[in-house]
Amino acid sequence: MAEADIALIGLAVMGQNLILNMNDHGFVVCAFNRTVSKVDDFLANEAKGTKVIGAHSLEEMVSKLKKPRRIILLVKAGNAVDDFINKLVPLLETGDIIIDGGNSEYRDTTRRCKELMKKGILFVGSGVSGGEEGARYGPSLMPGGAKEAWPHIKTIFQSIAAKVGSGEPCCDWVGDEGAGHFVKMVHNGIEYGDMQLICEAYHLMKDVVGMEHDEMSKVFQEWNKTELDSFLIEITANILKFKDSDGKYLLPKIKDSAGQKGTGKWTAISALEYGVPVTLIGEAVFARCLSSLKEERVQASKLLKGPKVTQFSGDKKAFLEDIRKALYASKIISYAQGFMLLRQAAKEFGWTLNYGGIALMWRGGCIIRSVFLGKIKDAFDRNPELQNLLLDDFFKTAVEKCQDSWRRVISTGVQIGIPMPCFTTALSFYDGYRHEMLPANLVQAQRDYFGAHTYELLSKPGVFIHTNWTGHG
Ligand code: NAP
Repeated sequence: MAEADIALIGLAVMGQNLILNMNDHGFVVCAFNRTVSKVDDFLANEAKGTKVIGAHSLEEMVSKLKKPRRIILLVKAGNAVDDFINKLVPLLETGDIIIDGGNSEYRDTTRRCKELMKKGILFVGSGVSGGEEGARYGPSLMPGGAKEAWPHIKTIFQSIAAKVGSGEPCCDWVGDEGAGHFVKMVHNGIEYGDMQLICEAYHLMKDVVGMEHDEMSKVFQEWNKTELDSFLIEITANILKFKDSDGKYLLPKIKDSAGQKGTGKWTAISALEYGVPVTLIGEAVFARCLSSLKEERVQASKLLKGPKVTQFSGDKKAFLEDIRKALYASKIISYAQGFMLLRQAAKEFGWTLNYGGIALMWRGGCIIRSVFLGKIKDAFDRNPELQNLLLDDFFKTAVEKCQDSWRRVISTGVQIGIPMPCFTTALSFYDGYRHEMLPANLVQAQRDYFGAHTYELLSKPGVFIHTNWTGHG
């Protein structure tokens, strides 16, 4: 009997939690998994006492679904998604919907969308953020693909998503093809940037200001009441004060070698591919790469000398406020760059992206959730065509107010020898972006000198000329 509103395939941590979330909101979910025994385990344990039903084959699962059939895949990204699609297609009818909620690469989503469109199946690639906890109690959901599917999944998606403000769901339609997964990828890249910025603030507090863990924790707690109010600042305050079973702080015992699963790297690669200067996310990825060279760094630390000045002699309280402002200004740059990448991708692929809606989707439920994202939503509400976040009055003024502090932090850190790749790249971007004239005229002259690549004169736009720079031949 067709009794289920939706099916979910993939009973690992994300799938199980999303099913329970949908059940809480009154939807009947049919669960399935490649290793079928996990269906019975789930029904007998985590889903006991709920309305969740199970299936032991894809045929059985499909037979239990109301039409148009809605099936979510939450399996390992890559071949597993294609394998399930291939098995499902012969069992489905025109107008049925397959949703991939895994961390798939956006190009795969675009390909699947196009292939399935030819077969009459509506394919949706949805970013799901917020990890296990988010999946269970309200994730940020970023669906994109075949828009005809949206009216059929909107109610389910928006009721299970995180809510902010007066109950606005952190889920809206993102755009065509792989747009949902592209937006999720950029979200993850921004997450890398936010984390690295906080790490640089921590490094400065620890090694320039000379603060203890409890003190630093309190500062982050205070910062969480300012413009920086966010999940990552909140957990940083908690991490800093956390003590191990021996009564000592845990953080300094953790190996300073950061891991990564690749979505930050994908964002940086896309930025290079589409020619968008998303420098901060790039630096955040490279900072993790440098951190992972632990053994080499241990050797280098014994051989390579830093500056003579290693002590900070200024006012510590004032400097802490400078660090807060440097972090805020750099964060604005990072989001401005992330939205530049989204804008360029929209151009490349012909997607119509709702930038304010994207900010709202990230406002709650996910790792980068923050009050700040509400301000970005406001900026795009004021002007949906906003070319760059830095050109919005609110953000323009915010950066201007922070800039003296930002420059002081960077010059102090550089003099004392503290690496601040994201603080510094953000400021370089700001200075580059606000310069009418950059030294790229010299690059053009050099290119023309050695390669006859030609250059354009400011006084004659569109006219490209070559000069014989050496006067020979
Ligand atoms: P996962 O470890 O990525 O995947 C496990 C699931 O995939 C199991 O159901 C497994 O089935 C199935 N699977 C693996 N290889 C398969 C194959 N070759 N053919 C068919 N099924 C296969 O699980 P997860 O952590 O819950 O994540 C699910 C998806 O959500 C992933 O794409 C992940 O990247 C994404 N995601 C995860 C998080 C998170 O915080 N974990 C957050 C956002 C998004 P068996 O039980 O039979 O092995």
